[in-house]
Amino acid sequence: MRNFPIPIFLIIALLSSGIVVSCGSKKHAQTRSSINDLRYQVDSLRGLLLESKSTNAILKTENRELKKEQRAHLEKDQDLYSLLEDGMEKEYPWTGTQHFDLRKPNFVIIHHTAQNSTEQTIRTFKIAHTKVSAHYIISRNGEIFQVLNDYFRAWHAGIGKWGNIQDLNSSSLGIELDNNGKEPFSDAQIQALLGLLAELKSKYKIPQTNFLGHGDIAPGRKHDPSVLFPWKRLAEHGFGLWYNEDYLLSPPTHFDPLEALRLIGYDISNPRATIRAFKRKFMGEEVDEDLTEKDIQVIYNLYKRYL
Ligand SMILES: [Zn+2]
Repeated sequence: MRNFPIPIFLIIALLSSGIVVSCGSKKHAQTRSSINDLRYQVDSLRGLLLESKSTNAILKTENRELKKEQRAHLEKDQDLYSLLEDGMEKEYPWTGTQHFDLRKPNFVIIHHTAQNSTEQTIRTFKIAHTKVSAHYIISRNGEIFQVLNDYFRAWHAGIGKWGNIQDLNSSSLGIELDNNGKEPFSDAQIQALLGLLAELKSKYKIPQTNFLGHGDIAPGRKHDPSVLFPWKRLAEHGFGLWYNEDYLLSPPTHFDPLEALRLIGYDISNPRATIRAFKRKFMGEEVDEDLTEKDIQVIYNLYKRYL
């Protein structure tokens, strides 16, 4: 997958503008050491970005289609330029530091595409008006495509909440599984997913509890991945938590299952939707029903694992 070409230039331009904006306006003398600081920051960012597979692909690829995309990407760079400029307070003198890198993702959100092919999803992510994206797409036959550099913020989570985090796009990677929402997930696709998750978990030190589904973080709006998704198998490989099926106990009488789901991370502002999301993931049922005694035992077991 090609990505937009390199906000490296944009970052260079931005950091360079920092010299002009912060110092020019304040008439501060720009010292040689602070210029070197900025050069160091730019070089560090360039190194980080060049590591990206997708960025390398852009640099190596020359064709007509790319030129067309480049025009769109230039416009995108303008947007990012404004955004990054917004992150610099112009009224304060710029001093700089060489001690920094890029923020790392701390969650993975899994989706199903609800589309009929990987090609369709690739197109969807390139059309201007859709305003949706993700970092990876995994096809039904287990082929993995990277859509966006891991360090950038994709638009996949939307309005949602997990614990106190409301902007999941800022802290997560989004993985789209090519699946129409009604069919089983193929073994090849799940194998590929497990491999990708292992890489991401190890590279970014993502906690086991932070591998979630879109339906977990947006229970009132989303129901992907579908009830057919093998969450237990993922948990067995260290991605997400599962309950101990051989050790289900009835909780004490004061136990509040909804409150326990809140402590696990769920948004409980719409309890029916939260219970539905819980049943989809842990009980294998896409239903709108009350909690059963067994459901409550499962929640109690999970809750104790999160403590
Ligand atoms: Zn989704």
